[in-house]
Amino acid sequence: MFLAKTLNQTGANWKITIPDVQKLIIEREAPKQSSWLSRFGESNQLFKAIFKRFKDDSGLKAKYGFGDYHSYETIMKYLDDVERGYPNIAKTFIAGKSAEGRPLKGIKIGNPISSTDKRVIWIDGGIHAREWAAVHTALWFIHQLISTYEIDSTTRSFIDSLSFYILPLANPDGYEFSRDDITPLHRLWRKNRGDIRCKLDLRWNFDFHWAETGSSTERCSEVFQGDTAFSEPESRAIRDMLMSPELHGKTDAFITLHTYAQMWIHPYSNQERTYPEDVQDLREVGLNGVAALEKDYGTAYRFGTGADILYPSSGGSDDWAKGVAKVKYVYLLELRPADEVWDGFLLDPRQLIPTGKETWDGIKVVVQAVLDRARANRPELSPSIITTTTTPPPTTTTVPWWKTSTTQKTTTRRVYVTRIY
Ligand SMILES: [Zn+2]
Repeated sequence: MFLAKTLNQTGANWKITIPDVQKLIIEREAPKQSSWLSRFGESNQLFKAIFKRFKDDSGLKAKYGFGDYHSYETIMKYLDDVERGYPNIAKTFIAGKSAEGRPLKGIKIGNPISSTDKRVIWIDGGIHAREWAAVHTALWFIHQLISTYEIDSTTRSFIDSLSFYILPLANPDGYEFSRDDITPLHRLWRKNRGDIRCKLDLRWNFDFHWAETGSSTERCSEVFQGDTAFSEPESRAIRDMLMSPELHGKTDAFITLHTYAQMWIHPYSNQERTYPEDVQDLREVGLNGVAALEKDYGTAYRFGTGADILYPSSGGSDDWAKGVAKVKYVYLLELRPADEVWDGFLLDPRQLIPTGKETWDGIKVVVQAVLDRARANRPELSPSIITTTTTPPPTTTTVPWWKTSTTQKTTTRRVYVTRIY
C-alpha cells in the first residue's frame, strides 16, 4: 500500500481506524435507499418511532420525515409548508444564493411575524457539507417551535417575545454534492462548491482574525480559508443577514450547528486563553445549556473555546459573530457522537431525533437567557463594544470542569492533522 509505505518512510505514527469507508457508508446509510416496507420490518425501534410520529404530528400543518436525511429540495419544501401552514408566526427568507445558484432559504419565526423590533435568535446548520445531522437538528428546532406554540407556554413566550431566524442548510451545494454519490469523496465532502479550484471551507471564511491560524492557504486543503475573507456567497449571506438593519444590534444569540465531537464552544477560538469581556455570562448560560442537554440521554459535552479544548483556528463564523457583529451569546455546537468515534459523520438516522431533542433542550436555555434579558430591559442588552482580552477571567475556587482534563486536550490535538469538524 503506497500510503502506508510513505507514512512509514516519514516515521509518522499511524493506524487504520476505518478499513473501508465506502463499505461503512453503504452499511450505515443503506436503509434510506431500501423500501419503506423493508425498513418497517427491519427495525422494531423504527416502527415505534414512526408510529409515535404519526400520533404526535396528527395536527401538524407542515410535515417532514424526521429521523432520516433528505434532499435540499425536500428541506426547502418543508420550509415553504411551514410558512403556508403557520402564516401568522412563520415566514421564509432568502439570505442569498449559493455559488451554484441555490437560494439560501431560511425561516423567520415570531409573533407577530411582521415585527422587526424584537430581540433576535440566529441559528444556522450545515455550513460543512457532510455534517448532515446538524441540518436535521436545525430543522428539528423549527418543528419544535411551530408544533408546540399552541400547547407549550414556554414556546409561546419565546415566539411572542423574540424573533428566530433559522438557516438550516447554509451550504446547500456542498450538501447536495455529499448526497449524490456514496463514495467517500462525495459523502465526506466538507467544503462548498464555488468556482475556485478545490473549493473552500466556509467556516474559516469570516473576517475576524481571518487567515491567522488553523485554516490553510493551500487550495486543496480541507480547511482552505479562501483568497479573501467573505470571498464566497454563502459566508457573505450570513454576514449580510447579521449586519442587516433587521438583525444588527438586535441579535442576542448566534448558534451555529456542526458535527461532531460533543462540544459546546464559545468565543474566542483564534488563540488559546482568549475570551470576550463578558465570558462569565457566556459560561454561565452555556454550562446550563450543557447540563440541560445532558439530562435527556446522558450525552456529555465538553465546554470551552475551540482553541482551549480543540485547537486554535481563526476566521470562524462564531468568533466573527461575537467580535464583529457583537452578538451577546455566541455558541458553536459540535453535536453527537463523541470525539473518540471515527465514523461520526455517518450518524445512524435512529440517533437523529434524540440528537434534535437533547440539543433543543440545551438551546432553550440560551433562548430563555435572551428572553430574560429582554424582559429585564437592561441597558447592557444593547450591543456593546467587546474587546479581546488575553488574560483568563477569574474563576471560582472549585476547578471548573471545562478545565479539568488536560490529558483529554492533548489526546484531541491529534485531530489537528487527522480529523476536522
Ligand atoms: Zn463543521
